[in-house]
Amino acid sequence: MELREFQGHIRRLATLPKTRAPVVSCYVRVEGGDLKHRSVFAGRVEELRRSFAGEDARLFEEALTPIERFLSTEVHRGSKGVAVFSRAGRQPFFLALQFYVPLPTWIAADTLPNIYHLVELKDTYWRFVVLVCSQDTARIVSVNLGAVTLDLLTERPDLRQRLGRGWSKEQFQRHRTTRTRKFVADTVKALSGIMAAGNYDHLILAGDSGMTARVRRALPPHMAARLVRVIRKSGRSGSWEIVAQSISAFLEAEQEESKATVDALQQQLRTGSLAVAGTRASYWALKLGQVETLVMSTEYAPRPGWMCRGCRIDRTTEQLSNKCPACGSRSLEHLRIREAMLRLAEQHRCQVELVRDSATMTRLGGVGCLLRFSHGAAGRVPARAWTARDRSYSYPDAGVAGGQFGN
Ligand SMILES: [Zn+2]
Repeated sequence: MELREFQGHIRRLATLPKTRAPVVSCYVRVEGGDLKHRSVFAGRVEELRRSFAGEDARLFEEALTPIERFLSTEVHRGSKGVAVFSRAGRQPFFLALQFYVPLPTWIAADTLPNIYHLVELKDTYWRFVVLVCSQDTARIVSVNLGAVTLDLLTERPDLRQRLGRGWSKEQFQRHRTTRTRKFVADTVKALSGIMAAGNYDHLILAGDSGMTARVRRALPPHMAARLVRVIRKSGRSGSWEIVAQSISAFLEAEQEESKATVDALQQQLRTGSLAVAGTRASYWALKLGQVETLVMSTEYAPRPGWMCRGCRIDRTTEQLSNKCPACGSRSLEHLRIREAMLRLAEQHRCQVELVRDSATMTRLGGVGCLLRFSHGAAGRVPARAWTARDRSYSYPDAGVAGGQFGN
């Protein structure tokens, strides 16, 4: 699956309109074409089944049937994770995705799809290229969600043949230098094409240290900026070992990126301009389309807010009375904040950075946003235009249900 296609699926899920019928979001770990944790899956289905009655129970069963059918007949042997989303009723919906990386076995039924694990997959495993160079070959290994494709990029004609044709040593040396230069230039050109076509944003160089150094020097700035690691090939390590080393190098680089994003968030919060932190501020920045990057701790688990079915207003603080303060309606429903934030981020095409084990993120309330423009501004005001006036911006949640700022 291409990145654009994957992003398209996530966006489709994030913008799916609500209906009465529940959406079953089903993530499973699979192995050899079969469920890995079958009893966990069955137990969870049983729990969900007991939570519905009447018409809702019928809609749940109707949504579940195609999922079970898919899992028993359609899972590829090479897949490690499958995500299926299904809804019955008047606006039926079905989407099944298979991956070469594992997913947890996790199922939920809610009014909207749960996209957390897809966002996590996109953030963690998606995609990089490794250029493996030897003295006379260059190969591209592209890794998409654990699926590996090997392409022979370019091969240098065997120089040894030339020596047999009566070349002097000097001629041979000169020829070799020119050939090497051309070889490096061709390699970089081909690599650039592949990276641009596939929208790859991480590059790893591996192999012969002399050649990787030459290639590195020849990289144009936009490609050099995407270089995350150089791996020196030890002895006779094969392509698959290189891939394994590259995956761990990529994951390390991804961790560093997360950390850099958290540092940027903290820095912006200190200078008071292009960032917000905490549940309420982040939620409203997302709703207002101000967010460039949503930074979220993987442990982030806010308490639910609420949404009024009558006038559609939503709040991130828990409702204390059972009545909507705006329209008086008693028809309130839980707002699952983490999910709502991820949906908003996808709808507005924000970057999402999920962060593991960060004390800074815990201190900030588990969530924060780097903003495109200053919060409080009515329109798209550039960062420079930030003034003290912006501090007076108030969140719609303020004064409702007496919630604390942040979490
Ligand atoms: Zn209301």
